[in-house]
Formats: sequence, C-alpha cells, structure tokens
Amino acid sequence: MNAAPEIHVSHHAVRRFIERIGADSEAEARCALTCRAVQAAIPFGARVVRLESGRIIIKHTATGATVVTVVPLDRLPVQLCRKSGVARPASSPPPSGQTKERKPMARNYVCDVPGCGRHRKRWQRICEHCFPRLPGDIRTAIIDAHRHGRRSDWRAACRRAGEFFAGDKPARSGTSHISSEEAFHRNQRLLGER
Ligand SMILES: [Zn+2]
Repeated sequence: MNAAPEIHVSHHAVRRFIERIGADSEAEARCALTCRAVQAAIPFGARVVRLESGRIIIKHTATGATVVTVVPLDRLPVQLCRKSGVARPASSPPPSGQTKERKPMARNYVCDVPGCGRHRKRWQRICEHCFPRLPGDIRTAIIDAHRHGRRSDWRAACRRAGEFFAGDKPARSGTSHISSEEAFHRNQRLLGER
C-alpha cells in the first residue's frame, strides 16, 4: 500500500482556502489542501490536519477521503465542536458565510426513567425498552408533565418510574423464591432505610 491515497477536494474547501488563507488560483489552493501532511494523515483516519496556515478538515467515507474545508487557526472548526459535543468557545467568532452549518446539538437523548440510561428518540421521553413495561399512568404523567413544563411533577413521575423498575426487578427473578423477610428488607432498601 505505497500508492498515495486518492484525495477528493470539495469545491467548498477550495473556495474557503482562497477566502480564508489566500491563494492566487484554485490550483494553488487545491495543491495546498492535498499537501504531503494531508496525504500522510489520511491513512490514519485523521479528521483534521493542523498546518501553519490553518486546520484542514477531512471527511472519511466508504469511497475515500474528502477535504471539506479549511479553518484559520484562531477559530475552532465547527466540525470538531459538533463531533466531540464541545460547545464553541464564546471568544471565537461565528462562522461567516457558512449558513448551511447547523448549531452543535446533542444527538443522544437519554430515557427519562432514572437508572435506565438507554437512548430515546428526540420526540419521546421514554425509551422503547421502558415504554411497554411501565404502567400507563406513570407514562402519561411523565409525558404530560414534561409537555406542560411542570418540572416538579415531571421529576416526581420519573422517580415513580424508577421505583417501579427497582421494585419490578426482584419480582421478575422469581417471586416464589423471596421470603417475606427478604421482601421486607428489599422494601426497606428501596425506601433508603437500610
Ligand atoms: Zn428507558
């Protein structure tokens, strides 16, 4: 595998290079965007190559690597903010002329049920695992309270859901094997009294 990897350079990247870093021609910009440092970094799967002039952003797909844009060093590339979930620092100016770039946003939404930790869809409150297992009234309480912004009701409903599952688990592993003494201890533990 000594052959140089094929590097695609987007038209956007060429335009940004000319605009932000400066080049006399598209060919010159293209040449800078596919410099040896970039060629060396791509086989490693690097998403960014930091040069003296700026950071070159690379996107890897099944068909190969594409240089997508270049960002001056005094600015944190939005591509890096979004992927790592780090908010853009307040000091850096917003990207100019890049109206297509969206705000960094969280992509993982976590189920409202305490201790669940599974992902839910953005428009849901409860994950696919918990939803069919929860009693309807708790479900409705979580969803309704959240929808109407009743924070304390919502927290209480989430707590009820958590308690429901905490109480549900021992019962699932075989109700007949639990002595009344054991059930009493578990209940105390649930109430935080032990
Ligand atoms: Zn869940």
